Amino acid sequence: MNNRFEVSDYVKPTTVDEALAALDRHGAAGVILAGGTNLFLEGAAGASVAIDIKDIALSQIVSGDRLRIGALSTVGDIRNAPELTNAYYILKEAADLHGHNLIMKLATIGGNVANAHPVLDFPPCLLALDAVAVLKSSRGERRVPLSEFFVGFKKTVLQNGELITEFELGDFSDRSGGAFLKLAWSRVDMAVINLAAVVDLAADGTCQKARIALGTAGPTPFRVEEAEQLLIGKKIDDALIDEAAKICKAAANPVDYFRGSIDYKKHIIGVYAQRGIRSALRRAGKEN
Ligand SMILES: Cc1cc2nc3c(=O)[nH]c(=O)nc-3n(C[C@H](O)[C@H](O)[C@H](O)COP(=O)(O)OP(=O)(O)OC[C@H]3O[C@@H](n4cnc5c(N)ncnc54)[C@H](O)[C@@H]3O)c2cc1C
Repeated sequence: MNNRFEVSDYVKPTTVDEALAALDRHGAAGVILAGGTNLFLEGAAGASVAIDIKDIALSQIVSGDRLRIGALSTVGDIRNAPELTNAYYILKEAADLHGHNLIMKLATIGGNVANAHPVLDFPPCLLALDAVAVLKSSRGERRVPLSEFFVGFKKTVLQNGELITEFELGDFSDRSGGAFLKLAWSRVDMAVINLAAVVDLAADGTCQKARIALGTAGPTPFRVEEAEQLLIGKKIDDALIDEAAKICKAAANPVDYFRGSIDYKKHIIGVYAQRGIRSALRRAGKEN
């Protein structure tokens, strides 16, 4: 991607339909602008028309049958959302660690997911919460589970002319809890390691759902289903947590980069998997 984003034209739709029409009209020259915190840093090769979607009413966080988060909800909106309790609290933990105040006011959850870099923080949380992305285009609507959304390094299933409008989260009970852990060298740096863990307990304390998602451990964020399956149907104890952490470590395939070596990152993934599952369990049992 080229590092410059030279804007020759700027449009500001106020409805989803207007945004979709603008995307169709401008084709490859058009690019969606939400908070701009990635776009203006990374640029957008070949694009010259900014389609600024910030005036569209897509920043709702609504609890109902399912919790729904509008794609334009900012990090600040998520940080302050009273609806995000139990397992859903991990989104607030991720928001709390996201850059500084100005970035929190601008950056949106839709932009974070669409950017699709594996070091970003909301994707592992949304994976751990069984999120489904709602995508709209002039061709209609489709709903894509986050587990099928990322298809390669910074590659997603998003097609030309498509807009993420919201995320619908999975069903987690009052006996669920979660934890989001992130190692970063400063508040404004990306994660060296990030991990989201969720457990949902039956009335007798047996684990009925477990989710562990890694965000910095390969070209795309992903769930470690083998570790999840190990925990489901059992009362989670230290031995199971150690075993699940070993599985996470083995599943990780991080890159050697200036933020940390492969061995170091794998070591931290093992440590964070243990901590994440323990915190999730404690919170599900309401002992925090
Ligand atoms: C100083 C600083 C600190 C940061 N710290 C963190 C951090 O701690 N954790 C973290 O995860 N990230 C961090 N970031 C990265 C960035 O803030 C996030 O990725 C942010 O959520 C991106 O959202 P945005 O609204 O700014 O996206 P934009 O920059 O507006 O867009 C990003 C990309 O997504 C596309 N897009 C945006 N919205 C949609 C949509 N609804 N549908 C389809 N495509 C869309 C755009 O066309 C563009 O390609 C940081 C960035 C900076 C500059």
